[in-house]
This record gives sequence, C-alpha cells and structure tokens, in this order.
Amino acid sequence: MGTPRLEINHEKIAHNCAFLTQVYAAKKISICAVTKGVCGNIMIAQTLVSTGVTMLADSKVSNLKKMREGGILATFLLIGTPMLSQARSIIKWADISNNSELVVIEELARHACIRGVTHKIILMVEMGDLREGIMPSRLDNMVKKVLKLKGIKLVGIGTNLACFGGIQPSKDKMELLSVIAECIEQKYHISLPYISGGNSANYGWFKSTHDIGKINHLRLGESILLGVDPVNRRPIPNLYTDVFNLVAEVTELKIKPSVPYGKKGQNAFGHILHFPDRGKISRAILGIGLQDVDVSGLKSNLDISILGVGSDHTIIDPQKTNLKIGDEVSFSLNYAALLSAMTSPYVEKINIVSYELEGIL
Ligand SMILES: *Cc1c(COP(=O)(O)O)cnc(C)c1O
Repeated sequence: MGTPRLEINHEKIAHNCAFLTQVYAAKKISICAVTKGVCGNIMIAQTLVSTGVTMLADSKVSNLKKMREGGILATFLLIGTPMLSQARSIIKWADISNNSELVVIEELARHACIRGVTHKIILMVEMGDLREGIMPSRLDNMVKKVLKLKGIKLVGIGTNLACFGGIQPSKDKMELLSVIAECIEQKYHISLPYISGGNSANYGWFKSTHDIGKINHLRLGESILLGVDPVNRRPIPNLYTDVFNLVAEVTELKIKPSVPYGKKGQNAFGHILHFPDRGKISRAILGIGLQDVDVSGLKSNLDISILGVGSDHTIIDPQKTNLKIGDEVSFSLNYAALLSAMTSPYVEKINIVSYELEGIL
C-alpha cells in the first residue's frame, strides 16, 4: 500500500454513531451526523446511515450534492451559514438549512417557489459563542417575517457553542433556548420539531443535566469520528478514539547537526527558526507535509518528536526508535488534521470494512 494514506475503520465509525444515538435517545434527543470533517465522504456517509441515523449535516453544499448524487438516502441539513450566492443550489441539495439572515431566507424562498418546493429552515440563535446566530432580542421580529414567506417552513431553532469563542453549552443556555422555543410556539401557535441544542460539545451538559427541557436535537461530528468531547478532548467512555490512522513513510535517515548552518534568513514559510544546539543528532524525514495534512495535529505512538515541517517533508528526531528507510510511521489525528487529510487529494483513503458491514455498504 502506498503512503501517505489515511486508514478509515468503518466498523468503529458505526459503533461510535450507534452508541451515541443510543446515549442521547435515553433522554429523547435525536442526532444528526455531521460529515464536514470527512469531506462528505460517500462511504462514511453510507456507514453512518447504516446505523439508523436518518439525517446528515454538512457545511458545504458541494458535499451535500456529492452524498445525494452518491445515492445516500437521508435528510440533508446545511449547517454552514448559507451564502446568498448559493441560494439556488441550497434549494436543490439541502432539505433543511440553518439560517440567521433575512435576505438569505428571502432568496431561499424565491428559489423554493421557482422550483415548486418548500424549503425547511432552522433559525440559529446567538448564545454567546459569537459565531452565527440572531441575537435573542431580535428573534421574534425575524420569526414574524419568516412565517409570512411562501416556500419556506420554519421547523426549528438552534444554537451553536464551543466553536469560535470556546463558550461551553451550559444548563442556563440550554434552558434559555427551551424558553425561547416555548414562547415562539405559544405566540404563533406553531410546533417546532427541531430544538437543536448544539454539537459534540453538548456531551457534558447532557450527562450532568437531569431535565434537558425542550432540547430534542444535536448535530454530532467530532464525537462520532474521533470519540472525544471537544470541550476538553477527553475520550467519551465506550467510544473508539482510533477510527482514523494516518501512515507516512521514512524517506531519509542521517546523522546531521541539530542547528542549521550558514547565513540565516527566512525559511520557505516566512519564519526564522531557532533550534537548541544538541550537537549531531539522528534526523529522519517522513514523506508527508502541509500539502497532505495539518502536521501539528498529528500524534505518533512511537517515541519520536517532530522538528519541523515543509510542504512535502516532515523532519523528525527518531530518538531511540530503530527506523529504517521505507518504514511506516502511524499517527492519530485531531479534528483539524482529519479535516485537512480528508480534503487533500495527495492522501490516499483506505476503507477498512468488516465482514458484517460489507453487505450493507
Ligand atoms: C461543525 C458544526 C457542528 C459539528 O460540530 P462537532 O463539534 O464536530 O460535533 C455542528 N453544528 C454546526 C453549526 C457546525 O458548524
């Protein structure tokens, strides 16, 4: 097998997805699986759907299109703040979209009418993380206008935390979202099927809260794919944290000085680097670089340290390991590394599919 390659264990994805579905179902929360970390990969989408998940969400319309055209049967939710310029294709490829701007919703309504369909929307509410969302004091005004639009159906409200500002989903914030949902339902005599409380970072809130109020929906990416709680990056009990494995190959191995020598200027990326003088050391090069993956998000189970990285080379100190030219080195990935490796055309994706899943995929 060639390198660099990303090995994807589908059985572990299916386990994580099924387990979290069950955990959240205990308090009547349904989940959708977020595929943006895996670039809307069709095989992974199929694995997710095979566990019984009926809604898939992605931040890119192109990924929704890819999955739909790839024959994935699910309800597709667009979670990235929709672009005005993409309204037409959103109507075509998304069943539901998260929204926060009236002009965009009006444009979605216009295209929905042209296409003769009803597009569902969830209004996003700002709760302090300061990424997308309508300020709570402005929400009523927005709801009033949205309910008058033809071609649009308001199906819920939602919020997103722990993404930009690192603000955690708390009991207070989730209660406020529940209250807001209740007020809208009462005032306008409507029912909102989705009260979408957040993402993988809602795990701690969910576990510690007895009464989850009206929250009945979460959008999960990282906890399914990497098995961790993004609030502290600790493993969630009973989940696999090794779904993905990135493999690179040793291409050079030599004893060299620990400090670059000669007249010093900027390196290829505009940085001036400083290294401690440790005399001559063993240095190895791996055939993987920034074109392949965000190297800073990689962790090896070998006792090696990464000295630096270029577009196609990663220079490591192999320490006491007995690496040879051609040897393979494996890494686990954080979310940023996963995102970049899945997006890079230079990283081969290898699907590891168990006998049981084979019949379904
Ligand atoms: C990325 C994203 C998610 C998924 O977040 P995870 O931390 O990966 O679970 C959910 N909702 C929105 C709006 C997102 O942008």
